[in-house]
Amino acid sequence: MSQDTAKHQGQRNHLIDELRSKGITNESVLAAMNRVPRHVFLDSSFEQYAYQDVAFPIRADQTISQPYTVAFQSQALGLERGSKVLEIGTGSGYQAAVLDEMGFKVYSIERQKELFDFSKNLLLNLRYKITQKFGDGYKGMPSYAPFDGILITAAAPEVPMSLIHQLNPEGVLLMPLGGADDDQIMKRITFNKDGTLKEESLGNFRFVPMLKNVNTK
Ligand code: SAH
Repeated sequence: MSQDTAKHQGQRNHLIDELRSKGITNESVLAAMNRVPRHVFLDSSFEQYAYQDVAFPIRADQTISQPYTVAFQSQALGLERGSKVLEIGTGSGYQAAVLDEMGFKVYSIERQKELFDFSKNLLLNLRYKITQKFGDGYKGMPSYAPFDGILITAAAPEVPMSLIHQLNPEGVLLMPLGGADDDQIMKRITFNKDGTLKEESLGNFRFVPMLKNVNTK
């Protein structure tokens, strides 16, 4: 794992300024992203670009989200420190690290073994305390439910009701809704106390697809 240097910190400061200029206002999100060394989550060939606001390929044909998208999703959860948050799609582990730095109790699921192994090793090395599972995100983590927030970092064509049922009353599920070939709409679904759902649309994004029927134990 490469070192975190003053140069990286300088680049992070610039990235945070850029995120502010793009409309991210939540100080807890900005402080968290100013602490997480994004360059160690990327392949070393991309290290020099790690603090540009762009997405990059990671193993298993997946992508690490653009920093703006990570900031946007983290902010849109609208949760307080200490909340329990489940992430679907650990990928590199970067988003999970940001959620941990925001003071959430973080759980995360990944279906690609290669990414699960990579992120587990890295997050442990960085001393993040994240409960990770190798498996199908559609199943959630019933043994740790209910959650205050669920954040899906892959696009799905419909709202997974299996996950809605793992939310606390007034919990929120944040997800890019839509097919693999289009832009998706970021949706925030609130599980109201009376059992009904409130659905808000927060803008267009583009994510890799959330895959179904996967063969994991
Ligand atoms: N949050 C990640 C980026 C994730 S890209 C980061 O910060 O780097 C989306 C991830 O969702 C990919 O790693 C993909 O393998 C995973 N994924 C897709 N379908 C899934 C499913 N059904 N269950 C769990 N993970 C899934």
